[in-house]
Amino acid sequence: MTPLIAGNWKMNGSLTEADRLAVLAAAQSRVEVLICPPFTLIGEVSRRLAGTGIAVGGQDCHAAASGAHTGDVSAEMLKDAGASFVIVGHSERRQDHVETNEVVRAKAAAAHRAGLTPIICVGETQDERRAGKANDVVARQIEGSLPAGGKAMAIAYEPVWAIGTGRTPTASDIAAMHAFIRRQAGANVRILYGGSVKPTNAKEILALPDVDGALVGGASLNADDFFAIVCAA
Ligand code: PEP
Repeated sequence: MTPLIAGNWKMNGSLTEADRLAVLAAAQSRVEVLICPPFTLIGEVSRRLAGTGIAVGGQDCHAAASGAHTGDVSAEMLKDAGASFVIVGHSERRQDHVETNEVVRAKAAAAHRAGLTPIICVGETQDERRAGKANDVVARQIEGSLPAGGKAMAIAYEPVWAIGTGRTPTASDIAAMHAFIRRQAGANVRILYGGSVKPTNAKEILALPDVDGALVGGASLNADDFFAIVCAA
C-alpha cells in the first residue's frame, strides 16, 4: 500500500505555506500527500497545488448534500472546490460538536456519495487507556463509524491524549493497536497513525507494521517539517 501522509491544518494555515508545499512536492513521488486546509482555503490551495501530486481535503462535512444548515459545508461542495478526501470524526469534532459514531458514519457515507475518500478518526482518551479500555473504545468507534459498502476509506488512529501534546504511545502500543484495527477493518483499508508525529519520530512510527501513513496536525503547518515527515515514509 502506498503510504499516505495527510496534514490537518485545523483552524490555521496560509497560502504562503501552500506555495512552499508546491515547491517541495517536486522532490518526492513515492508517497501520497494530502493537505486539509480550513474550508476558506480549499479552493485556492487546490488551484495552487494542481499538477504537484498533492491532494487537498476537507476537515469535516455535513451529512446532507444541501439544505438549511447554516455554517455547514457538504461533501459535494468540498468536491466542487477541488477536494478528494475529507476527515470525519476527528476527536476535536467528537468533543467540541458532540459528534456521535452515528453522525460520523453519516458523514463518511456522505463523502462516498460525493466521490470523496473519508478519513475516519478513532482513538481513546488518557483515562480510557489507563483503565485498560483502549481496545474496547476503538472497536466501538470503528463498528459505529464506518460506512457500509466497501468503498475506499482510511482510518486514522489518534489517541486523544497524544494530539498536540508532544506525547506518543510506545512503538509497541501503536503496533498493537494498528494490528487490532487491521483485524476489524480488513486488508484494504489504510490505517494512519496521528498524534504528535514530528520529523524526529516519523521514521520509527512509519516503519511499524500496519502503519500505512500519518495524520499530522501541528507539524503540517510548517512545509519543511511536513516534508521531512513525508520523506521519512
Ligand atoms: C491531529 O489533530 O489530527 C493531530 C494529529 O495533531 P498533532 O499532530 O498536532 O498532534
